[in-house]
Amino acid sequence: MKIFRLPETDTVRRLQAMARDRILMLDGAMGTMIQTLSLTEDDFHGRGGSGTGCAHPTDHPQKGNNDLLTLTQPEAIERIHFDFAMAGADIVETNTFSSTTIAQADYGLQAAVHDLNEQAARVARRAIDRATAIDGRERFVAGAVGPTNRTASLSPDVNDPGFRAVTFDDLRIAYGAQIRGLIAGGADLILIETIFDTLNAKAAIFACFEAFAEHGKRLPVMISGTITDASGRTLSGQTPTAFWHSVRHARPFSVGLNCALGAAAMRPHIAEIGGVADTLVCAYPNAGLPNAFGQYDEGPEETAAQLGAFASQGLVNMVGGCCGTTPDHIRAMAEAVAAHAPRKAPFHD
Ligand SMILES: [Zn+2]
Repeated sequence: MKIFRLPETDTVRRLQAMARDRILMLDGAMGTMIQTLSLTEDDFHGRGGSGTGCAHPTDHPQKGNNDLLTLTQPEAIERIHFDFAMAGADIVETNTFSSTTIAQADYGLQAAVHDLNEQAARVARRAIDRATAIDGRERFVAGAVGPTNRTASLSPDVNDPGFRAVTFDDLRIAYGAQIRGLIAGGADLILIETIFDTLNAKAAIFACFEAFAEHGKRLPVMISGTITDASGRTLSGQTPTAFWHSVRHARPFSVGLNCALGAAAMRPHIAEIGGVADTLVCAYPNAGLPNAFGQYDEGPEETAAQLGAFASQGLVNMVGGCCGTTPDHIRAMAEAVAAHAPRKAPFHD
């Protein structure tokens, strides 16, 4: 594909140089940090108080539409990014996990998708620029691309296994709109994350290529799957090795796993990916298993000790946290991995 004749952004070389020296730090969870703010329906719409109003007013209920807060409570979102940056994150993820037309259809906000992504990249940039002004450390914005709430390779209807709620082209178009917004807002990388269906991810990769061709430059792409069952396969049935071979054509900046059952359950799968992948390996697990209330109990020291062990065993180039991880988790992780050399990646020979 001609996509690889496009020049890369300068960011790639800077990130690769940093990754040669040490294990890079991602941030922690946006969603569980937002939950602690106990925001109301009015807060989500940006009405009253610290709200900024919304350029996309709607009568549709918005409580739970965390991505909308980028537009309606930008200071709160910027503060979360800033706290993660100051805790040690080299890369912060935009608040755009559900900022596709497919996921926003649940809230009647498909028309807001470009704004949601463009502004999310700008809010994240403002936060890291503030952090860099304090300590001089360079940081990067990763545009977060979630899996959507539909799956292209499985039927949601047990009586009709051939049925699909979404097609590859539906996803390609929806991801394309998201990625163009993230690029317009100045994202440094694209992070395709929490992949449970590899076909969805392949549509996101294809959408990246199309958007990069229009942009005239290739951004680094991070790819992160999720394994939520004991068989060690993704929801669409792949082992970690099969998953890598399905996405390696993207020549990703990193590949790895996130979310799911916590660090302990992730370890063998991360080791397997590291055994086959000729790129950087990234792990950002949840803060353990969710309890009966869907909350995460694993404290910063506990999660950090496990990721420190990944690092001491040479398994990772990049770590961070997913659901339930706080700035304290990221700070503890950064300390736990600091003394260990990064996994040796092929381009570091
Ligand atoms: Zn998660």
